[in-house]
Amino acid sequence: MSKELSSNDKEIIQSSIRTIPDFPKPGIMFKDITTLLNNPTALNKLTEHLKERYSSYGLDYIAGIESRGFIFGAMLADRLGIGFVPIRKKGKLPYTTVAQKYALEYGFDEVEIHIDAFKEGSKVLLVDDLIATGGTAKAAVELIEQVGAECVECCFVMELTFLNGKDDIKAPVYSVLEID
Ligand code: AMP
Repeated sequence: MSKELSSNDKEIIQSSIRTIPDFPKPGIMFKDITTLLNNPTALNKLTEHLKERYSSYGLDYIAGIESRGFIFGAMLADRLGIGFVPIRKKGKLPYTTVAQKYALEYGFDEVEIHIDAFKEGSKVLLVDDLIATGGTAKAAVELIEQVGAECVECCFVMELTFLNGKDDIKAPVYSVLEID
């Protein structure tokens, strides 16, 4: 069993993230992690906690969602000594890809992964900064499975719990901070 994050450490991480009202559009409370990234104490508490949690999972890879999932995901992959795989917006990956569409408030978006991203049957942790409606993460989990790997858990720095985004995701979800 991994150690829980102490309420003091949780507070250090939470208070390092700032909320920008009405960005990028009216009504959105945008969680800005740039202030976490440039706070070495908070960033170290976060990555050490995640390293401790996931070191016993037997993970083969971390998959990170563009773009903030790249930062946290690649840092954690390095600490765990495993590979990192990017899940990107449509049209950015250079080799053969598999794509998955998902609904936005208005319209659709699409994410992609390289067809040869993982060895068959690999255990993968999905990482992003925040889960809101869960649409992006759901599409990402489907991509991981479509290319022959297993998504053992989805990990977010923050979860907007009032949107119930995790309900629709097949894999277990762990969020460091729950925001209601
Ligand atoms: P969703 O698909 O609705 O769960 O949205 C998740 C994606 O949108 C993540 O990649 C987040 O980085 C981004 N996102 C959604 N809502 C916010 C928010 N309030 N603050 C910062 N990022 C957000």
